[in-house]
Amino acid sequence: MHLAGSFYAEDLLAIGAPIFREVDWTAREFLNGYNNSLETELDPVQLFAEALENPEVGFPKLKAAYVFGPEDSGDFERFMWKYRLFSHLWGYGWEQGRQTAVAMIRQAVEHHKRQGLEYVEYRAGFWGEGANLREKMQICAETLAAECDEQFTARYIVALPRDDPWPMYQAVRQLLTERPHLSNILRGLDFASYEEGFPPKLFHSIFQQIQQDNAAQPDQQLTAVYHVGETFFDKSLESAVRWCHEASLLGAKRLGHCIALGLDPAIAVNRRPQAHEAELVSERLDQIAYDLGFASQLQKAGVTIDVSALQKEQQSLVNLAADNQVERPYTSQRFQDIRQRQTFVLNQLTQMGTVIECCPTSNLRIGGVPDAEHHPIHRLLASRVNLCICTDDPGTFDITLASEIEWVLRHTHYTLDSLAQRLGDPRRFQL
Ligand SMILES: [Zn+2]
Repeated sequence: MHLAGSFYAEDLLAIGAPIFREVDWTAREFLNGYNNSLETELDPVQLFAEALENPEVGFPKLKAAYVFGPEDSGDFERFMWKYRLFSHLWGYGWEQGRQTAVAMIRQAVEHHKRQGLEYVEYRAGFWGEGANLREKMQICAETLAAECDEQFTARYIVALPRDDPWPMYQAVRQLLTERPHLSNILRGLDFASYEEGFPPKLFHSIFQQIQQDNAAQPDQQLTAVYHVGETFFDKSLESAVRWCHEASLLGAKRLGHCIALGLDPAIAVNRRPQAHEAELVSERLDQIAYDLGFASQLQKAGVTIDVSALQKEQQSLVNLAADNQVERPYTSQRFQDIRQRQTFVLNQLTQMGTVIECCPTSNLRIGGVPDAEHHPIHRLLASRVNLCICTDDPGTFDITLASEIEWVLRHTHYTLDSLAQRLGDPRRFQL
């Protein structure tokens, strides 16, 4: 789960109570962004004041302003603004120093202990530079380490910003060099948040570097996990499926979401007018290169691949500007081919041992999955791919791991026993 997404509405109130009047709510465009995106007129000071003075009326209002519920469905941008209602406080709290930061992290971890969780991997990225950035990661790792006991194990995954992952990656390595004991807790790297515009090919060199550094420092292993196939309205469904395959080929151990591998293409294109019909010339060229490279395997998997037509199309596109758009409407044959591609990539992931982290509620509320019946989990469960059920942002969604498992039992034909058998022990996927 994301650490900053695991605070419930009551945590928001508890953490906000002593500071909500000091916080600059207009900083980093928070208030404008929230109000424009959610078409509302939030007054955070009034909201907190009322929740404290008159909880019966005020707390439900605070909760409604924060929790990203079923009625908010389908929009990643809107989700990010509700998420930022907490992360704005989180950022302010971190600036107050170590003590406040430690107290906030403990507040989240206490929930998970009370919920009976035994093992949690927390994803969190930080801001700042140099020693300041390293100190934040150190505080996070040390606080999580201090929470570990016989009943509870915490691990820390650093989330790298996709637009410039290198400085944060180098900061993590430097931190581990300076404080090698943190490698017990700090085990992984994540690529998360906005994925549109960041094709997996951009991360070849950093994945290579991670592998080289792991080989050079065997006692400071960092394993990469990767969010992919979650939000993909910027491209064709073939490309969305391919990105999941490419993320796995990069060497990511676990892939977050992979909705693109489990959502039926006919349902996916119905989500918006002309959804997935247009994509960049560069994206189409990447798809053609992939199809030519995997031609015989794709054909064996039942996907129609016309090599000479693809080569001709490649010739026609190669001289266009890479940021031009190509439009290709869907046919029922194309839908059928995409289903075969999904199966092909699921089989590839199965062979490579790649794990998919499926987050049922997150997919329904921010992943654009229209309803339980068409949830990607059905296809994922039916395949043999390594699969685990995760919560993503349990506080922002007001859910727990137990409620996610209940959701799966309610909406699939699995029983507790058969689900446990299908999934196996998720601890085998730990970093
Ligand atoms: Zn996530």
